[in-house]
Amino acid sequence: MNGHMTPDEFRQHGRQVVDWIADYLERVESYPVRSQSAPGDVRAGLPAHPPETGGSFDDLLADVDRVLMPGVTHWQHPNFFAYFPANATGPAILADLLSSGLGVQGMVWATSPACTELETVVVDWLAELLGLPASFRTDSTGGGVIQDSASSAALVAVLSALQRAGGGKIADSGITGRHTMYVSSQTHSALEKAARIAGIGSANVRVVDVDPRTLAMRPEHLSALIAEDVAAGAVPTLVCATVGTTSTTAIDPVAAVGEICRDRGIWLHIDAAYAGVAAVCPELRWINDGVAEYADSYATNPHKWLLTNFDCGVLWVADREPMISALSILPEFLRTTASASGEVIDYRDWQIPLGRRFRSLKLWSVIRWYGAEGLRAHIRTCVALADEFARLAGTDEDFEVREHHPFGLVCLRPLWTSKSADVANESTMALMERLNDSGALYLSHTKVNGQVVLRMAIGATTTERRHVLDAWERIRAEYRVLNGQR
Ligand SMILES: *Cc1c(COP(=O)(O)O)cnc(C)c1O
Repeated sequence: MNGHMTPDEFRQHGRQVVDWIADYLERVESYPVRSQSAPGDVRAGLPAHPPETGGSFDDLLADVDRVLMPGVTHWQHPNFFAYFPANATGPAILADLLSSGLGVQGMVWATSPACTELETVVVDWLAELLGLPASFRTDSTGGGVIQDSASSAALVAVLSALQRAGGGKIADSGITGRHTMYVSSQTHSALEKAARIAGIGSANVRVVDVDPRTLAMRPEHLSALIAEDVAAGAVPTLVCATVGTTSTTAIDPVAAVGEICRDRGIWLHIDAAYAGVAAVCPELRWINDGVAEYADSYATNPHKWLLTNFDCGVLWVADREPMISALSILPEFLRTTASASGEVIDYRDWQIPLGRRFRSLKLWSVIRWYGAEGLRAHIRTCVALADEFARLAGTDEDFEVREHHPFGLVCLRPLWTSKSADVANESTMALMERLNDSGALYLSHTKVNGQVVLRMAIGATTTERRHVLDAWERIRAEYRVLNGQR
């Protein structure tokens, strides 16, 4: 029978694991980008029943290689261009290991003062690095908090907005009457999910029209929907404006939307999950236009493009009162003298779960390792590669490139000989599947005004110019083969 792993055994296996990760990162390019595994393959390689007797860690590592690795998609691969990036860097991975090693559960200040206070410092640092408003800082009316995801951040925003719209009574009495929320067709589904969880309901999530060219929310239509809902007796509660939509990185007009929210007293949440971190570069800081004047809450994910491994999303609020009023419940077993003194922050009141990981360690480690200049260099590299890719594809008459690509994402559409829109969409999907099946690169897709477009998201730390040029060659070559066949 195995007892607990001794510190000496841990030292030995820990070194093995660190070496394993270093070897993996060194040869990540040699794997097919998207796992070539078929449904059920991984499961079939694992025993159906748990072991009665403990086993060796060496055997476990061997199974990672043999059974799991074929079922892994390689997000750190230089040719991973799908979805958005999920950067995992050395300083982040190591600091996450420290967090695991400490095994801290930071639900309230007293359960580890360092867990709370480092988080306060790091979210204030990040607000400064991104040029976010002074009201978001902890020494002001608001503050920031690390969440597991932008989805959780959206739910906290919705609950805070409800609490404010309901005069501070909803947390206690529940929702009465009809509360409405406003998103666009391009808004992330996390907002509708939050509406469902909060009890607002999908039917009360109003979808504002977008400009068909820019895909940005139309403020006039937002105004019209709000007026209609108010006339029908509803309480407009939250508007979500997105800076960098998931589909195409479209940008809603935050100031114009914010003006409407201010007039009507509606909570404005900004979802900048992917693109928000780009504001670390002064030349991209225009993406914050309107945030200082109008945003009640703002979310961005260092775990996408800012070199910090999943999970690490940051939510800031301009006024923390409605949030704490919505979420704070104090059972006897959580009473501490420190909390009662009012001198400390209990981040449990800023999120859905009670328990919390020591996530600030990895963000702190990343910011210290890279410094502001290193963070900027990463964003700039990706933006420059995306620009170059867009230029290459844009000068090819067989492809149409979306003009808007201020970040790392370029959307492009192959033009097929067939004139039928359905056939064109099928052909684009077939092209993407062939490329992804090859394992050489990994792209994803979206639909814009009914047309399937390919998404080329450049953001891995390993991606160099040669990978982007090679990806373009492969896309074009595969297109030629396929278009010839049709
Ligand atoms: C990725 C993304 C989300 C969801 O992020 P999670 O952290 O996975 O919940 C939300 N909104 C936008 C705009 C995104 O790009």
